[in-house]
Amino acid sequence: MPLTKFRKVVILGYCSVGKSSLALQFVKGDFNEDYDPTIQNTWSKTLVIGFDEYDLQLMDTAGQDEYSLMPHSFVLCIHGYVLVYSVTSLKSFQIANEIHAKLQEKRGKSRMPIVLVGNKNDLPSHNREVKMEDGKKLADSWGAAFMEASAKDSEKSHLIFTKIIEEIDRVESSFCYKRKCQVM
Ligand code: GDP
Repeated sequence: MPLTKFRKVVILGYCSVGKSSLALQFVKGDFNEDYDPTIQNTWSKTLVIGFDEYDLQLMDTAGQDEYSLMPHSFVLCIHGYVLVYSVTSLKSFQIANEIHAKLQEKRGKSRMPIVLVGNKNDLPSHNREVKMEDGKKLADSWGAAFMEASAKDSEKSHLIFTKIIEEIDRVESSFCYKRKCQVM
């Protein structure tokens, strides 16, 4: 049996961008059209990637805006972040950048495993306010992974969470390589 690795990931982003919908699609394979604002919720799912098994704990948050502070619970003992904006909301894209700045301020200069997600890409193109290349550019400037998705698409939603696990492993192994340490 492979060793199970525990990973705790926080989902951040402006309200109504689809954070809960992406988490629910991933955990339960379900999409709900009704908007029910989240206070804070934690989901667990075990998944296997390659030869490794992961116990993934997902913290779904209420949503952040320009006035939100970054609580310690979003920083301490957190392995990685899924930062979501909606491709139909420029404001949510700007807020994603502000959230990243606040995270960096709290966490210091250390590399943070992040997947930046432009959600709701199923909506008609006339609703689009953020170009795909702008999302990619922003993620590149952070050294983060990027993808566009729709919470209606179970495959894409699944890919987001396997990607963050891969990013956590990648950042951890580059950190260990530099310091010649060994992860138990
Ligand atoms: P949160 O506040 O960021 O957690 O957003 P929710 O997951 O509650 O979603 C807000 C609203 O957007 C709900 O009405 C969802 O049904 C809708 N929604 C979420 N993701 C998508 C998506 O990918 N495509 C479309 N068309 N609607 C979505």
